Amino acid sequence: MKLTEQEKSFLLDRVKKIAEEKGGKCLSDSYVNALGKLEFKCSNPNHQTWKANYINVAHNNSWCPCCKRDKQEQLNRAIQVAKEHGGECLTTEYNHSKDRFIWKCSNPEHATWESRFSSVVNGGHWCPNCYEENGRKKPKKKNKGS
Ligand SMILES: [Zn+2]
Ligand SMILES: [Zn+2]
Repeated sequence: MKLTEQEKSFLLDRVKKIAEEKGGKCLSDSYVNALGKLEFKCSNPNHQTWKANYINVAHNNSWCPCCKRDKQEQLNRAIQVAKEHGGECLTTEYNHSKDRFIWKCSNPEHATWESRFSSVVNGGHWCPNCYEENGRKKPKKKNKGS
């Protein structure tokens, strides 16, 4: 199936709009076919450009491989921090450090709660119920032997 020049420029326009909606851009100026590689750049200035075809970006919602890796790393951090607290991170997708994540502490009587990713992972916040109970009992335990 051959595309006319008009169809090609329509599809190129479309993929450029999709890229802009994601905060990035499509750097290519010509569209060959749905499987032809186009060059993209995401919104993160530290990430390199990458190539993907029209189908991937327009239909499969594929985007910057570096962003994808970063998000996975951030999610892993959240899971790790929750584990260190003896609890769990119930959110399975990271998009932004201001995202509200759902967390569960080690106390089965405590409900899950929502906190920003950044306040738990970077700010050291944890279960508000545990915090309250600990505060009521006594200040933090001292290290053994001191
Ligand atoms: Zn990126
Ligand atoms: Zn708790």
